[in-house]
Parts: sequence; structure tokens; C-alpha cells
Amino acid sequence: MDAKVKALINDQINKELYSAYLYLDFSNYYEAAGLDGFANWYKIQAQEERDHALLFYQYLQNNGEPVTLEAVAKPEWTRGNNMTPLQKALEHEQYVTSLINGIYAAAYEVHDFRTMQVLDWFVKEQGEEEKNASDMITKMELFGGDSKGLYMLNSELKTRAYSAPSLVL
Ligand code: MG
Repeated sequence: MDAKVKALINDQINKELYSAYLYLDFSNYYEAAGLDGFANWYKIQAQEERDHALLFYQYLQNNGEPVTLEAVAKPEWTRGNNMTPLQKALEHEQYVTSLINGIYAAAYEVHDFRTMQVLDWFVKEQGEEEKNASDMITKMELFGGDSKGLYMLNSELKTRAYSAPSLVL
């Protein structure tokens, strides 16, 4: 595997684990605020991010490339109100999209078609992640300002169940 592509994928393992850590902290925030549905949503989101990390980890190993695991940074965000994590999540997903695009560009440059095919799933996944994050903000704007609306929204988010990623490497 091309050294630059390999390094970017190895780095992405860390970035996905950081995403898991960030979303776990959002879950932690909402749990303390008494919004157990929002807490559930982000706890599942954290599981998905860990899955993303494991997919990249497995992909490198499948290609005979040794993985280097680095320290995961402390989640960096400033607590504000119940809207803050939702806005931070959208910003973060836009950032992750730029990272995936960066790996894709590096793979494209060296005609690494196998990596590009794996990344196709992640490109699509990022489209969904950004839409979900954006929809959460819209719903919060529409319904979150009223206690009954917030209760309903929290109840809806409580129903989210974990399902493993559909990508097979
Ligand atoms: Mg991810």
C-alpha cells in the first residue's frame, strides 16, 4: 500500500475513536441534563464511530499493514445549552467528511482502486451523518423550545437502536 494512503488510514482510526469519545461526552452531557433520549442517541453514535475505527483497523490488517495506535485526545468542546452538542456534532461531521475526502484524493492519486472502493461506503456514510446531524438541529429548533416538544423529541431519540455497519471488508 502507498505510504501516504496507509498513514492517512492509520490516522483515521484515531480520528474515528476521537469521534466516539466526543459523542460519548455528548451522551454524558445529556444524561446529566435528564435527557435520556438524547443521551441514548449519542451513545449509539459513539458505538458507530468505534465501528468505523475498527473497519479501518481491519482494512489495514487485511492488507498486511501493521497498525499504530496513538493516544486519543480529550474531547474538546465548551458546554453551552442543549443545542450546543448538536451544532458541534454537525461541525465535527463536516470535518470528518473532509478527512475521508482527503484519504480518497490520496488513493485516487496512486490509483489505489481497492481503497477507493472501501472509501465509497464512507463517503456515503458521511452524507448520512451530516444529514442526521443537520436534522437534529432542525428538530431542536422547531420543537426544543417548548417543554412538551422537548419531551416528545427526547422520547423519539430514546427509540434509536444500535445496528452494526453494513460494510463488509
Ligand atoms: Mg465516523
